[in-house]
Amino acid sequence: MNKFIYLDSAATMQKSDAVIDAQTHFLREKYANSGRGVCMRVAAVDDMVRDTRRSIAEFINADYRDVIFTSGTTDSFNRIVNILKLKPYTVVAVSDLDHHSARLPFQMAGAKITVCPLDDNMNIDIDNVPYADVFVVTAMSNVLGMPQDVAAIVRAAREKNPDVIVVVDAAQYVVHEKIDVKKWDCDFLAFSGHKIGADTGVGVMYIKNADGYPADKFGGGMVERRIYENDFLFMRAPEKFEAGTLPLTQICGFGRAVREIQSARPDLNLIKYLYDELLKINRVKILTRRDASMLSFIIDGMHVLDFGAIAGAHNICVRVGNMCASWIHQHLNIDGSIRVSVGPYNTKDDIDSFISVVRGCVK
Ligand code: PMP
Repeated sequence: MNKFIYLDSAATMQKSDAVIDAQTHFLREKYANSGRGVCMRVAAVDDMVRDTRRSIAEFINADYRDVIFTSGTTDSFNRIVNILKLKPYTVVAVSDLDHHSARLPFQMAGAKITVCPLDDNMNIDIDNVPYADVFVVTAMSNVLGMPQDVAAIVRAAREKNPDVIVVVDAAQYVVHEKIDVKKWDCDFLAFSGHKIGADTGVGVMYIKNADGYPADKFGGGMVERRIYENDFLFMRAPEKFEAGTLPLTQICGFGRAVREIQSARPDLNLIKYLYDELLKINRVKILTRRDASMLSFIIDGMHVLDFGAIAGAHNICVRVGNMCASWIHQHLNIDGSIRVSVGPYNTKDDIDSFISVVRGCVK
């Protein structure tokens, strides 16, 4: 069997020893629930949750209280729809860069969808943003891998409607680029821990001035006190939005992953190298730019699933299909693509092995 080569970090990143060790240590030696317990063990768990939240707040330049733990980007988007209490006449602007998780929650809630066009470079067309009540901005497409100028898009959207609520999908952007929610001036932002090396089951929903919005989930851990009969006073954000027991083990690893990703981002020179090599191969049609954060392509005359099976037989894991981003594929007039993405652990040897598989397919 060939060595296993993982080139699918945009789907989920492999975990470092430091993250795995932090979680194992927490489970073995430090485990308890967070909340109002008074013993030292519980206080230490509270500190761990607070430290992770503080690291994430610094990571995206948010206020501490505006960082809310969710189970991931998809969960965050579904919750944002509930928090905003969408009406059927709410106009939600989207773009063809969207992942299904960013657009479908709004669409299925019955919002009036308007599509913001892309420019010639397949970026959100800042000169032609439509009027919207809510603007969904995919900060980096999980197929094309180009960072969008979120601050400029927000400014353009506010020129059309000063009250627009801007919701940013940062699931891919967060892996490669520094986020600054204050500079961007967005209202909501979401990303998942597992794409930056944390475990699955934990993510972030940033809400600008979170205390100004009503809670969307109710239960333990978010009640300040019972005032009278059925009258309750809820805690301030972030707890107000975190009913129920948090994914504590994952939050423990998340703190470690946030610190690690800032010092070891994926080496995008590997993508440039792959780009240059694939350009030389007949029948390969590259869909992404050389400076993108991932490389997507198709092979003329070959179904992407067939290619995926052949790569898999060589023990190489890449993503094939529509990547849960059917709109961009429709925009490009194709059913699906092959996506290569790298993590901090990939090497040039990994890319060379992949290139020889592609060469073998076009012989
Ligand atoms: N948005 C984008 C751009 C993504 O790449 C993904 C993950 N493929 C998601 C949203 C959804 O993330 P999750 O499945 O972790 O909720």
